Amino acid sequence: MDALAMTEPGAGSDIRGMKCAAIRDGGDWIVNGTKHFISGAEHADFVIVFIATGEDQTPKGLKKRITAFLVDRDTPGFTIRDGYKSVSHRGYKNMILDFDDCRLPDAQVLGEVDGGFEVMNTWLYATRITVAAMSVGRARRAFDYALGYSAEREQFGQKIGKFQGISFQLADMITEIDAADLLTLAAADRLDKGLPSNREIASAKLYASEMLARITDAAIQIHGGMGLMDDYPLERFWRDARVERIWDGTSEIQRHIISRDLLRAMGA
Ligand SMILES: Cc1cc2nc3c(=O)[nH]c(=O)nc-3n(C[C@H](O)[C@H](O)[C@H](O)COP(=O)(O)OP(=O)(O)OC[C@H]3O[C@@H](n4cnc5c(N)ncnc54)[C@H](O)[C@@H]3O)c2cc1C
Repeated sequence: MDALAMTEPGAGSDIRGMKCAAIRDGGDWIVNGTKHFISGAEHADFVIVFIATGEDQTPKGLKKRITAFLVDRDTPGFTIRDGYKSVSHRGYKNMILDFDDCRLPDAQVLGEVDGGFEVMNTWLYATRITVAAMSVGRARRAFDYALGYSAEREQFGQKIGKFQGISFQLADMITEIDAADLLTLAAADRLDKGLPSNREIASAKLYASEMLARITDAAIQIHGGMGLMDDYPLERFWRDARVERIWDGTSEIQRHIISRDLLRAMGA
């Protein structure tokens, strides 16, 4: 099993701001720094870690060069420790990785030296589509609960689904879910065909993860107080939904990618 480590306490959205750095020592690299929020690292046999391997002066200032390394969990100078307790996905941990004069040979470079961004993008394209697809799947499950409850629960002498306040919500929910599904399939199709798909993937991740937040919230509302009780899985769907707008690039970063792509095409 693997884990992937980009994020640091001081470098989340701004990945190039990372402090974890490797310096050359003969044919090896000596690494120092810390990564945090690393999902699944407690079980990982190895971790793909993004590390700064130099910097260039550019018109926009100093820009870090980044390289991906494969790091085995028992490498001297590399430790994995417990991180924080998250409200989302309580079934697994996020971990903190420390590098203390950790020696890595060149053979553990993944891809090219200084080619870490290509590796990162390949990974992020796939994980953003995965976030979008999982959001659609979870939203459908939450919707099924909401639909079932609306068809069963009676108040004021009738099924609550007969109230337009509920039935119109159901109509909007399924429309949003289907829209997110199609957006996700279209983005995945472009990626499969090798077409430029950065913007489309960002739109799918943005829309599907925000849709999931609305659907899980509405599903709880339709269940009234029971929606918050752990007799139903809805409170878990709602908690788990929260992280989808944050990891693999926040909603704001997806909006940045989408608008940058559009404006660049206009020469702006
Ligand atoms: C449960 C969990 C598991 C995770 N697992 C992993 C993992 O396995 N591997 C890994 O590498 N990372 C992982 N992450 C990290 C995740 O990808 C980051 O949390 C995410 O990229 C945001 O970084 P940050 O939390 O440092 O927020 P920051 O980057 O500090 O952002 C704070 C706020 O500022 C906004 N912001 C930042 N820059 C801009 C901008 N240019 N324009 C507009 N708004 C902006 C953000 O959108 C956000 O609202 C995980 C996070 C969580 C919560």
